[in-house]
Amino acid sequence: MSKFIKINEITISSDHYIGGQRVAAEHYLEVFSPIDGQVLGQVANGSPSIINQAIEAAERAFPAWAALSAAERKVYLDKFADEIGKRADEFALTESTDAGVLFSRMQHGVVGRAQLNIRHFAEHALRLQNHSIDTKQAEHLVRHDPAGVVVIITPWNAPLMLSTWKLGPALASGNTCILKAPEWAPCTSSLLADAAQAAGIPPGVFNVVQGTGLESGAGLVADPRIARVSFTGSVPTAKLIAQSAAQNLVPCSLELGGKSPFIVLATADIDNAAATAALMYRNAGQVCLAGTRLLVHESIKDEFVEAMRAYVEALNVGDPRDPATEVGPIIHQRQVERVAGFIERAKAAGAVVLWGAEKHPFGELYFKPTLLTNVKQDDEIVQNEVFGPVLTLQTFSHDDELIAMANGTDYGLGGVCYGEQQHATEIAKRVRTGFIWVNSFGIRDLEAPFGGIKRSGIGREGGNWSFEFFCDIKDVVVPKKPFRASFSQR
Ligand code: NAD
Repeated sequence: MSKFIKINEITISSDHYIGGQRVAAEHYLEVFSPIDGQVLGQVANGSPSIINQAIEAAERAFPAWAALSAAERKVYLDKFADEIGKRADEFALTESTDAGVLFSRMQHGVVGRAQLNIRHFAEHALRLQNHSIDTKQAEHLVRHDPAGVVVIITPWNAPLMLSTWKLGPALASGNTCILKAPEWAPCTSSLLADAAQAAGIPPGVFNVVQGTGLESGAGLVADPRIARVSFTGSVPTAKLIAQSAAQNLVPCSLELGGKSPFIVLATADIDNAAATAALMYRNAGQVCLAGTRLLVHESIKDEFVEAMRAYVEALNVGDPRDPATEVGPIIHQRQVERVAGFIERAKAAGAVVLWGAEKHPFGELYFKPTLLTNVKQDDEIVQNEVFGPVLTLQTFSHDDELIAMANGTDYGLGGVCYGEQQHATEIAKRVRTGFIWVNSFGIRDLEAPFGGIKRSGIGREGGNWSFEFFCDIKDVVVPKKPFRASFSQR
């Protein structure tokens, strides 16, 4: 029997969405809201039979969807984006309730960006047609052919944004998709299925499989019928996925965690840098690209800390549905314990608390924005991703020392560098990450490459990079002069 989750007046199917239909599960999992820890309802778990049904449905839909032109697919995808827009408030309240993302951020940023993710890549796909390289001997018709059935796996911290960022280019290229929703925040993936159905996306082109990583994710990734895996999540899970996909030589795109440096040079606009540093606590620090290691020139450390303290003290911690809230809850009790464990071990290793380091009185899953100093480069708290509202502060006296610290972890996702523009830009070039913001934070463009190096990931998303991953690139070589085989030919 079908099940539903109710959030205010919003009814969300708990079931899988396969071949254009809701499919009930044998087993369901409880879904909690991080706002107050209350049970929201249940969501389907996966099984080998569900995985098989989803892959069969996606395979069946593939030939017809792949045969459409990019312009024909764009008509469907624009409608898909329209349907997301029609339910903007539902998407916003749902993700705020099941993932704890700020409602204001959902409403004013994320839902619009989700629509843009679909529209933009549908438009970009038009440009990939008729690409040719004209040489003396031949015309090379470079084709971006759809690869087949794509598995998309997303984490709980930004499910709507991350799923559409992958679905846009995957569907626009002519692939059929199976979205494996995050089990701690499954609801907006289910709403996406409703939007796809309302948009008339043909059955099987877009499927949603709910459930745990082990029961749903691992089974999908191990199946030899799939053509691509696009994953965003943690490093340990990525290693399992890469090993599994390697059995069938299935290409994986892996967007993983970070421990990004937030650099403040002696020449920085201190107040500006401090205001941006306080932003790192947004989403309770559950943001992969946050600059969580503050590396501050020793000459301005005290001034910077006091400026930042003022911004942090002014932050409103509370219910993410309240428009005044700036820092919401941590997703799950397990994650709260993980954050607290990191802090305790750091303190035992000598870290000094500048602020925070304890639960926030607002509720069980709320944690105070925290800054730890007196930490060493090889300390666990400097080396490992906490994924909570916890930053560290280290100082440096010269550029080479700074670069050694900035590059001295296994991660390489992003970074921030505040200082005199030219100097900051030169430092930014020396930091080994997939991207870095100079005197700014969070500026993104769908045409620009996004992704990490080292343990922060493999591959790039955005612009052409997304299509190079989701497509089979093929060169059809058409000679200009009649061709006659000859052994002397080079
Ligand atoms: P996670 O790796 O635990 O889970 C991510 C997804 O993988 C979930 O849907 C989960 O069900 C699934 N999964 C788990 N085990 C699996 C398996 N064996 N096979 C297939 N799928 C499996 O990550 P999380 O805790 O949900 O998310 C937090 C992590 O995501 C952090 O490390 C964060 O930095 C990272 N993240 C990275 C980016 C980025 O763009 N680089 C963006 C957001 C989050």
